Amino acid sequence: MIKNYVPAEWKESVEYSLEFTYDDNGGFSFPCDASGNVLPMTECAKQNYETCLAHQEEFKRFNEFLVRRIRYREPAHGTCSCGTEVELYDQYYGACQCPKCGQWYNLFGQSLLPPEQWETDPSEEEYW
Ligand SMILES: [Zn+2]
Repeated sequence: MIKNYVPAEWKESVEYSLEFTYDDNGGFSFPCDASGNVLPMTECAKQNYETCLAHQEEFKRFNEFLVRRIRYREPAHGTCSCGTEVELYDQYYGACQCPKCGQWYNLFGQSLLPPEQWETDPSEEEYW
């Protein structure tokens, strides 16, 4: 059994950006904070941002504040007996392997034999 088991859970994060789009939906997007202040960016991105601000007439959507809510599933995880943090995801028939020591686990963190030692139930074979 894996130690410090943490079940999979849905998480949500929020991203903010300032959008500049042309009629054809192409355009620019600049990450910003919740107040609409652009985040630190590369010199190249900064030049693009300043060019966008200077050419309002070219954009269908100009400097619009956009909020994106992103829902994602964080996989279950835990600590392998070798000390490595292991993400429990469906790598192979609902099982996954510790990248360091090679121990196999199911998605609930229970230790498994390696797949080559799994037995096939003959009554299930006909369904495949
Ligand atoms: Zn391990």
